Amino acid sequence: MRKPELLAPAGDLDRCKTAIRFGADAVYIGGKQFSLRSRASNFTIEDIQEACRFAKEYGARIHVTVNMVPHEEDFEGLEEYLKQLEAAGVSAIIVASLSVMELARKVAPKLEIHCSTQFSVTNVSAIEFLKTRFAIDRVVLARECTLEEIRTITKEANVETEVFIHGGMCVNYSGRCTLSNRMTLRDANRGGCAQSCRWFYHLYEENQEISTKENLFTMGSKDLCTIPILSEILSTGVTSLKIEGRMKTEYYIASIVSLYRHLIDEIVEKDGHLEEERQMYYQNELQKIENRLTCVGFYKGRAGKESIITTPNSNQEVNHSYIGRIEDYQEGIAKISTRNPFALGDTIEVLSPKKELRTFQVQSIKNELGEYLEESKKPMASLYIPIPFPVEKEDFLRRISHD
Ligand code: SF4
Repeated sequence: MRKPELLAPAGDLDRCKTAIRFGADAVYIGGKQFSLRSRASNFTIEDIQEACRFAKEYGARIHVTVNMVPHEEDFEGLEEYLKQLEAAGVSAIIVASLSVMELARKVAPKLEIHCSTQFSVTNVSAIEFLKTRFAIDRVVLARECTLEEIRTITKEANVETEVFIHGGMCVNYSGRCTLSNRMTLRDANRGGCAQSCRWFYHLYEENQEISTKENLFTMGSKDLCTIPILSEILSTGVTSLKIEGRMKTEYYIASIVSLYRHLIDEIVEKDGHLEEERQMYYQNELQKIENRLTCVGFYKGRAGKESIITTPNSNQEVNHSYIGRIEDYQEGIAKISTRNPFALGDTIEVLSPKKELRTFQVQSIKNELGEYLEESKKPMASLYIPIPFPVEKEDFLRRISHD
C-alpha cells in the first residue's frame, strides 16, 4: 500500500515547525494577503522563507494558500508575491481562481498549482479542463465526494488528488457560501468567514416563532474525522491527506498530526488491515484533543441530519488537559513552562515527535524559588517536576487523570 502525504495546517511559524517535527510531510500556510483565514496569524515573506528552510531540513514541503476569490482591486501586488513565493522555495500554491492560476503559470512557473477545494471538483471532466487549460498539478477534491467517487476520480484523472481527513466542514459547498457576507459583511471568500452557519437562530414562520428556547435552529456541521475509514481512503490511491485548521493551537496541531502520523504508518505497515481495537485506540486518543462532535462527512454517502450539530456542544475539558511544555531536562528533572492547572498525583502523558505516548505520575512540583507545591495554578510559570524517562525540549504535556 502506497503511503500518501500527510498535509497539516499552520497559522504561524511555530505551528508550522511543530507540525513538521510531529510528522507532517507537508504544511500549508497562508501569507498576509491573498489567502482565506485572514484572521489566522499569517506569515510574512520572511516567515515563509524560514518555513521553507526548516521544511527542507526535514524533507518536508511548504504549500501556500493563495485561495481568495479576487475582485478587481485584489490583484495589486499579486504578481510580485507569486515570484517571491517561488524564490522562497515554496513547493505549491493552493488556488481558487482561474485568473490566479493563469498569472502563476506565467510569472512563477516552478510553483506547482493545486486546485483548491473551493472549486468543488467532483468529477473527472472538471479536472480534464483544469489540466488542459492551466496544467494544474493537483486537485483538492470537494469534501462532498464519496469514497467511490474519490476512487474513480483518482484512477481516471491524470493528476494528483488530495482529500480532507480531519477538521471543520462547511455546511455549504466549501467557498460557495455567502452566509457570512450577508450576516456580517465579512466575505467568506476573501478570508473573513464568521462561521454564521454555526450560530443558533430563532426561526419564524410568518410572525410566529417555530423554534423554542431549548431547540433553536442551527446548521453547523460536525467536524470531519476519518479514523474509522482511513484504510478505505488510503485504498483509493490519493496522493495527499489533508487536515483542516489553520486557526488551531500549537498543542492541537502537535496532537492531531501525531495521531494521524501514527495511524497512517500503522495502516500502511499492516497493508490496510487495522484491527478494530487499534481503531478504537485512535478514536479514544482523539477524545483527548477534539472538542467538537465528529462524523465521516460525505465519504460513506450523502451526509444527512446526523452530520449537523444541533446543540452548543463542545468538550472544553480537552482544552484544559494541556498542562505545559518541556523547557529543559537534566538528570531526571524536567523544567516545564505551564499552561493549565495540575496537581500532585495527576497522571501526565508526554507527547514527543514521532514517539509513542509515555505516561508518568506527578511526584513533586517545585517552583523557581525552590519551594515545593501541592498544585500548579498559574499559566506560564516555570516549574520543576521529575519525569522517569528522557524528554526533549518542546515536548507537550497533557493531564489524563486526577489522582
Ligand atoms: S458560514 Fe459556514 S458554510 Fe458558510 S463559508 Fe463559513 S463555515 Fe462555510
